[in-house]
Amino acid sequence: MKDAEQQLAEVFGFSDFRPGQREIIEAVIAGQDVLAIMPTGGGKSLCYQLPALCRSGVTLVLSPLIALMRDQVRALQEAGVAAGALTSHNSEEESAAVFEALHVGRLKLLYMAPERLASITTQDMLRRANISLLAVDEAHCVSQWGHDFRPDYLRIGALRAALDVPLAAFTATADRETREEIIARLFGGRSARIFLQGFDRPNIRLAFEAKKKPRHQILSFADALRGQAGIIYCATRSKTETLARALVDEGHVACAYHGGMEAADRRAVEARFQHEDGLIVVATVAFGMGVDKPDIRWVAHADLPKSIESYYQEIGRAGRDGAPAETLTLYGADDIRLRRAQIDESLAPSERRAADHARLNMLLGLAEAQVCRRQVLLRHFGEKSAPCGNCDNCERPPRVFDGTTSVRKALSAILRTDQYFGTGHLIDILTGNETEKVRACGHDRLPTFGVGREHSRAEWQAIFRQMMGQDLIRPDPARHGALRMTEAARPILRGEVGVTLRRDTLKRDTARRSSARALVSEEDAPLLSALKARRRALAEAAGLPAYMIFNDRTLIEMAEQRPATSDEMMRITGVGAKKLESYGAQFLEVITGEVLPPEHPARRKLAGREAGPLYDRLAEAQLALMRGADGHQKPMRCSAAQLARVAAEKPVDVAALTRILGERRAERFGRAFLEILNRDD
Ligand code: ADP
Ligand code: ZN
Repeated sequence: MKDAEQQLAEVFGFSDFRPGQREIIEAVIAGQDVLAIMPTGGGKSLCYQLPALCRSGVTLVLSPLIALMRDQVRALQEAGVAAGALTSHNSEEESAAVFEALHVGRLKLLYMAPERLASITTQDMLRRANISLLAVDEAHCVSQWGHDFRPDYLRIGALRAALDVPLAAFTATADRETREEIIARLFGGRSARIFLQGFDRPNIRLAFEAKKKPRHQILSFADALRGQAGIIYCATRSKTETLARALVDEGHVACAYHGGMEAADRRAVEARFQHEDGLIVVATVAFGMGVDKPDIRWVAHADLPKSIESYYQEIGRAGRDGAPAETLTLYGADDIRLRRAQIDESLAPSERRAADHARLNMLLGLAEAQVCRRQVLLRHFGEKSAPCGNCDNCERPPRVFDGTTSVRKALSAILRTDQYFGTGHLIDILTGNETEKVRACGHDRLPTFGVGREHSRAEWQAIFRQMMGQDLIRPDPARHGALRMTEAARPILRGEVGVTLRRDTLKRDTARRSSARALVSEEDAPLLSALKARRRALAEAAGLPAYMIFNDRTLIEMAEQRPATSDEMMRITGVGAKKLESYGAQFLEVITGEVLPPEHPARRKLAGREAGPLYDRLAEAQLALMRGADGHQKPMRCSAAQLARVAAEKPVDVAALTRILGERRAERFGRAFLEILNRDD
């Protein structure tokens, strides 16, 4: 693992593994068959990229989306890794370069879509190439029952058997059936080591708000995050367009994305989102699968998602780089009605519909939660956790009240009108509002008439919404809009249990400001913008997505830690040797405000290592002795490469030093150098 850790720092610029990565990487390097289930953003790619560098031969990566493969390959090349992809989008030169690198044994990672495996030529080519490991991304695509089934994934099992090499499969989909299918189809039933990583994504902030002025709520959330890339999910296509226009009117860069658009237009939005810094995409759920952007800073739901699983998957697209990310989910009584109706109207068998209602209930429970939201979310996935401190409820514990009496009044109004009416009419009855309809039905003579005057109409709306959220009442699919009591409400009606309601979501004027937080302190913000500007300029010049230069997390660390030398720069997460060489000076210039003298490549290679400062001390000593101890000798100096070797190898005596420097130089500098080297020990 020492080799792996060194590569982690030098190539990828990471100082630590993310949870689970170390164990997985150890197993893959050791040549074991591995199935790793990690959440989005958990860092799956590293788990085959790093082993690929540590093992001899080529690692073949099978991955479903061509655009994503090409991006990964470019990112690897930026980090100095010999990677290539064979895809139908390749130019002839690109493919030729890949074959050449394969032929001379230089290539470490070869990316390919499973479709290619159908061709005999490809199979032959792979048999001759020195493939030593198969890595399968999005392994759940092999599952025939999943939504993402790709028939070509079924070819992978045969390829593994033919090449007889270890296979490492990765997915974020964890359920047991899918897992078993993956084992059966990819590993041919051979037992694989399974790694199951927790679901938590601690850097993602969770927040929900009841809809009050939804458009305004979303716009003010986006405003607080101005300039940062985000996604807003909406329930309908037309809403994506109106909301995108509203954002543009407010000076944001935003565009709509939905299934009704031409495929080419959708591709264009995906590509823009990937490359541009700070674009907002307003989308229906169709958006996401085709994007692999690690620095999406926020996700908002303008409407309630379909289920707790969709919610988790959609917010999970934010903050994959590990830097803070914001989310906000809006929900209202209309959303609940819409989602219930969608389930009721589906053609699925009744058990399936019941299960869908239950999954919706989980999400509503999360929306109306009165405790830490992350605890509620993780509990759904079977994980225990402490209050997170990174959700709206943790930050401002909700104010609650005993709502038992109010709920019983509402239930009684529902029952006395034979479960035949919707919220509007029920609230008229409760607040004693004598409308024509109330009089015509004789509801002004009910004992419940006017018993709820202690709450305003808006408050009653919120109470009904919370009752729907707690699944005490449901819209009746047979009677449009009418509310029915559920079994869960019976004990309340009988006075056996009470209900706690949130007070703070009742009132309009106590709307909580969506407190999206800044990425860095006020003091560091100007530097962060300057670093981003430099990144944008470099990305445009190189025709690369901005995050491939450095991602947000890296720029944030630079802004906070302000490295002033290559050594310090190398300690920043995401700065590897190759990136330091390509871009280090450019960013140091922004941070220190001055153009630094060019650094010798031999010295730069030592950046961030112990040998770096040692080199500087040797160079200083050499300068003092350039004309000898008495200052009258013929000038003499060591080459930068020699100094770097001395610093790295730390010879212990004159003999060893002489082997590096030769007699003459050892004579002049030897004593001084050895003193420095010994002092250092
Ligand atoms: P996944 O495929 O699991 O969603 P990725 O492999 O795309 O996640 O990784 C997400 C982001 O996390 C990438 O930007 C990657 O560079 C970064 N990353 C992965 N491992 C580490 C690590 N050990 N330290 C810091 N960043 C990491
Ligand atoms: Zn919390």
